[in-house]
Amino acid sequence: MDKPFAITLDVRSSLANHTGTWRSERPVYVDGLPPCNHACPAGEQVQAWLYAAEDGSYETAWRRLVNDNPFPAVMGRVCYHPCETACNRAELDSAVGINSVERFLGDEAIARGWRLPEPSAPTGRRVLVVGAGPAGLSAAYQLRLRGHEVEIHEAGSQPGGMMRFGIPTFRLPRDVLDAEISRLLELGITLRLDTPVTDLVRTMTAGRFDAAFLAVGAQLSRRAYIPAGQAARILDALEVLGQAAAGERPQLGRTVIVYGGGNTAMDTARTARRLGAEEAIVVYRRTQAQMPADATELREALEEGVQIRWLRTISAVGGGTLRLEKMSLDDDGRPQPTGEFEELTGDCVILALGQDVDRALLDTVPGAEVVDGVLQVDATMMTARPGVFAGGDVVPSTRSVTVGIGHGKAAAVNIDRWLTANPRPDPALATSSVPSPVRVGPPAPDPRRPVPFGRLNTWYYSDAPHRTRPRLEAARRTADFGEVVGGLEADTALYEARRCLSCGNCFGCDNCVGVCPDNAVHTVDDARGYAIDLDYCKGCGLCAEECPCGAIEMEPEPT
Ligand SMILES: Cc1cc2nc3c(=O)[nH]c(=O)nc-3n(C[C@H](O)[C@H](O)[C@H](O)COP(=O)(O)OP(=O)(O)OC[C@H]3O[C@@H](n4cnc5c(N)ncnc54)[C@H](O)[C@@H]3O)c2cc1C
Ligand code: SF4
Ligand code: SF4
Ligand code: SF4
Repeated sequence: MDKPFAITLDVRSSLANHTGTWRSERPVYVDGLPPCNHACPAGEQVQAWLYAAEDGSYETAWRRLVNDNPFPAVMGRVCYHPCETACNRAELDSAVGINSVERFLGDEAIARGWRLPEPSAPTGRRVLVVGAGPAGLSAAYQLRLRGHEVEIHEAGSQPGGMMRFGIPTFRLPRDVLDAEISRLLELGITLRLDTPVTDLVRTMTAGRFDAAFLAVGAQLSRRAYIPAGQAARILDALEVLGQAAAGERPQLGRTVIVYGGGNTAMDTARTARRLGAEEAIVVYRRTQAQMPADATELREALEEGVQIRWLRTISAVGGGTLRLEKMSLDDDGRPQPTGEFEELTGDCVILALGQDVDRALLDTVPGAEVVDGVLQVDATMMTARPGVFAGGDVVPSTRSVTVGIGHGKAAAVNIDRWLTANPRPDPALATSSVPSPVRVGPPAPDPRRPVPFGRLNTWYYSDAPHRTRPRLEAARRTADFGEVVGGLEADTALYEARRCLSCGNCFGCDNCVGVCPDNAVHTVDDARGYAIDLDYCKGCGLCAEECPCGAIEMEPEPT
């Protein structure tokens, strides 16, 4: 955007305008909370890293981003980007392509070999992380940055959790995942693979751990009771996805039926098409509007020829034939059986009905509370057992990679505070009584409310239609597991970053300097860059009115 034409005299040159006592309001510069930051479950400072990317300072942008999230290349591929749903620019034309710029920065970092920040000085405290999925890896990263020794115990043979064993490679190529995980481990995090934790207290005692973070996810596939004949082939979605992710080609047959309506169902049906199924049919008991699958995933599945039978349940499976019951919605929107049936032929049925948490390990945590199948934590993400924290799919929340990463970071911050409040007892001063652990309250919440669209002065922003990412033609997608969605080029990433309206945060346009009729606003050599000389300001509010991004607010004059 061109800077607006600055009008008047030299700063503070109109001495006759020295303010008396008649001002009732004064302008103040604020750092507003951009809606994108507020909506990002990983707590990214989106506006701040977009601001750096706007002039091509990509490494600075990436460094700001990885303060909160060490997986930008993964996020730029799998995050459902609630930040874009919240973006104010959507009210002007369309949301800033935050997710695509994030992917660009992530890919750029891998290509250029940028390293993560160095950890702080060693604290001598040891933290056990159970599970190397997104939540565990994020917590390990944040704890390591704070100088703690971190050991991850992972049951599987490779790290990544559902990022590796669930999300198909055509959405998340494994070289990208490997690059971001190994860069994180290089910070000095110990990863023990093929090491399931079966008794938490015993593992903590044996390893002299001061605290633990449980990030074991939800690994048990839900089953449905379906009467099935001898010849019926009923498979589990996670098993099929895991095999495909490992490069195997399970033989599913010509027609594959997938039962479920979430993202796992979409991924499974799309995977089945790539494994050679001529037909992949999803059976879902509700309507499209009620489907939990992400809209983009559904659209891509339909483009790839996946068919959906809405308002149907599977009531029986025989050899090659399924009996479906039609459903109808009751007044509360719940599906109810109609007693009407139809038949469908299929070579196998793959159940994609969601996952449950395995309680085996949780039951070894003294006092741990499990409600509705998930582990309860307080506002600091600590379980009822002092020093044992948890996050990701194992606790009550939306299940996504981004939420897991946010939980990992929040838990790490709280573990760090908890360790500070609970120093390891000095053995020389040992007494017979062990002090009770000190609990720490949650950090103070951000009191700011997201900057609404109405706070912006959009007259100053130029038209800039959104640039979309390239996508592989639908007809070519099912031939193999090649990545479907491409990345932005450097020039389109720059363009997309510049579409950001910088909601609530000054972007240095000089407008306030130019529009002040009393020349009270001037540039200064500090981080803010602008100051208002209250000896000259009359409180007219023009600067606040004309600031494009709502970075100036009028406050009542102090009495
Ligand atoms: C098919 C599929 C597709 C998905 N697609 C997306 C998507 O596109 N975007 C998105 O945001 N989310 C997606 N999700 C959801 C997302 O993957 C999960 O919400 C997220 O991975 C949860 O992270 P987590 O770290 O809590 O658990 P997980 O990723 O499940 O990781 C838990 C780890 O703990 C290990 N573990 C378990 N028990 C033990 C034990 N006793 N000892 C040691 N280790 C143990 C497991 O082996 C695993 O590695 C998808 C999920 C699935 C199943
Ligand atoms: S992690 Fe997701 S929600 Fe957060 S900024 Fe990136 S795309 Fe948006
Ligand atoms: S315009 Fe920029 S600062 Fe505002 S919500 Fe969108 S991305 Fe965030
Ligand atoms: S008018 Fe421009 S320079 Fe002044 S506060 Fe707003 S964005 Fe910053």
